[in-house]
Amino acid sequence: MADSGVRNEVMTRKLPLPQPGWDNHEFWEATQRGELRFQRCSDCSAWRHYPRPVCPDCGSTRHSWELASGRGEVYTWTIVHGPTLPVFQDDLPYNVVDVLTEEGVHFVSQVLDVEPEDIRPGLPVEAVFVPASEDITLVKFRRAG
Ligand SMILES: [Zn+2]
Repeated sequence: MADSGVRNEVMTRKLPLPQPGWDNHEFWEATQRGELRFQRCSDCSAWRHYPRPVCPDCGSTRHSWELASGRGEVYTWTIVHGPTLPVFQDDLPYNVVDVLTEEGVHFVSQVLDVEPEDIRPGLPVEAVFVPASEDITLVKFRRAG
């Protein structure tokens, strides 16, 4: 879990937040429990993210929500120097990363507490859960051992 400083800072900001819907409400319910879950095809076993009704590998509409390890590595990233939304202005510069998870899923997020020059491909990271409202807990990452 994120430390209380991150939680308090995020909870007091008016962030643009995801709107859970038909395909992804299970994802957001899991993050509130501190779980990272991805859809996994019941026919070909392929993991996928973002959530969607049909497997892109085999076309199956059958899936389950499987618990992911929360571990992965930085696949690629960018450093945002602006312009950005006013709510993010004080965060500049900040990173946006594509994390390749152990399940083979690409997940766009952010690595906390890392300087832009310290981000590199293959950097091991692990998920942290950052409450952003009563209904939404964001998934971010931090460096792993
Ligand atoms: Zn499939």
